[in-house]
Amino acid sequence: MTYCDLCGARSDRSFIVEIEGASMRVCDSCSKLSKNAREHRIKKPKPVGRTKETVYVTVPNFGSLVRDIRVKMGMSSKEFASELDEKESLIKNLEAKEIEPSLKLSDKFYSRFGVKLVEVYEQSAPTAKRRDRKTLTFGDVVEVKER
Ligand SMILES: [Zn+2]
Repeated sequence: MTYCDLCGARSDRSFIVEIEGASMRVCDSCSKLSKNAREHRIKKPKPVGRTKETVYVTVPNFGSLVRDIRVKMGMSSKEFASELDEKESLIKNLEAKEIEPSLKLSDKFYSRFGVKLVEVYEQSAPTAKRRDRKTLTFGDVVEVKER
């Protein structure tokens, strides 16, 4: 919202006109008095908003979770692997916590058994502090979630 330098009217749009060598900020109708009027766009400040950030946290006891599911189903690691269309070595390594489950594998477990191996959190983080957020531990994230 600006005031016209010529007629004093309040105006949402303002135009810069050169009148007798002086540049003036005028309203829509006064701008028509000058041939070389150009619209002066008022820049809106960028919102200092918070951005959503997705954080992936591997469930600490994923090894025993995988084993528990397999044992409940009464399957060997080989049978369990073929059930999941994965390699037996992957199942063994998961149970031994030799490797971390991928998000894709976690999704597979979730759709079949309702168990997540990787928790996915959406949290809002101030843009400036984004880098700090990458080093969250599992406990930190739970705290954030419960707040
Ligand atoms: Zn005016």
